Amino acid sequence: MAGILDGKSMALTIKDELRREVVDWRARGYTPKLAVLLAGADPASQAYLAAKQRVCQDVGMVCDVHVLADLKDTVALQADLLALIERLNADEAVGGILVEMPLPAGVDKGLVLAALDPDKDVDGMSPVNRSRILSGEDGLFPATPMSCLEMLLRGGVRLAGKHVVVVGRGETVGKPLVFMLLRHNPTVTICHSHTRDLGTVTRLGDVVITAVGRPGLLRGDMVRSGAVVVDAGTTPTDEGLRGDVVFDEVAERASLITPVPGGVGTLTTVLLLQNVLKGMHRRFGS
Ligand code: NAP
Repeated sequence: MAGILDGKSMALTIKDELRREVVDWRARGYTPKLAVLLAGADPASQAYLAAKQRVCQDVGMVCDVHVLADLKDTVALQADLLALIERLNADEAVGGILVEMPLPAGVDKGLVLAALDPDKDVDGMSPVNRSRILSGEDGLFPATPMSCLEMLLRGGVRLAGKHVVVVGRGETVGKPLVFMLLRHNPTVTICHSHTRDLGTVTRLGDVVITAVGRPGLLRGDMVRSGAVVVDAGTTPTDEGLRGDVVFDEVAERASLITPVPGGVGTLTTVLLLQNVLKGMHRRFGS
């Protein structure tokens, strides 16, 4: 039976690390601050926002929420959003800026992301940070692929020379993850909806990471004995949040596995806040 890569305990450890760093920043005269921009009333965004505010408070960071109200006039809304980003970019007291997605229809997401100071772009979605992922430069990278990587590294999994199979090439998880993994020198194979006989490919993986959003996709006979399995999929169902992996079957064969819930998703908020501090280091030096 596989050991569990436990997101909850890793999140507590990272929170302790953040708390210590925040104390250091305060001693230097800076209070780390996250600015969250909320344009639109997506209920999921609002629920995630409350969680972020709680964690900010828990680690000693300030969380300022900016709600942009005029949702009917998207031209005015976009202009307001861009003006606010410009102001927050220039404000030295702001450590990180998070634009909650999805934006209302009619607002140009690409334009908004491109307006962010890359060293305040805690979601790692601006074009500069995307290109830094590809080029191997350091930068602020998106929390969910970072979480997959952190779970492996903190779980003691060495990646150099291993075969990692990533299932899913989406823009938020699979695609950035592939390039983030390559920095650690594994051989990486990418699967997607056109992959023929998924199991023959995933069975080759020393590590298998799923980022698809299809409960039941990865079954026990699709992984080799002793594989490490990371499940980034999250699908809300009547029975609660489900990953892509059939947990009981895969755990019988794997050596290590992440649960859903309690796995990859558990680390994303703390890694977002870690990006606030990383961006401050990039701007002010260590
Ligand atoms: P996405 O953009 O929809 O990408 C899904 C990927 O899965 C695509 O590359 C698609 O292939 C592939 N796919 C679909 N059916 C497949 C199949 N039968 N076999 C193999 N590959 C298949 O999704 P995303 O935004 O990257 O998110 C992926 C998952 O991560 C979702 O469940 C999402 O909810 C979850 N997520 C979790 C967190 C978290 O905090 N834990 C955060 C963000 C996202 P094609 O490219 O060929 O279409």
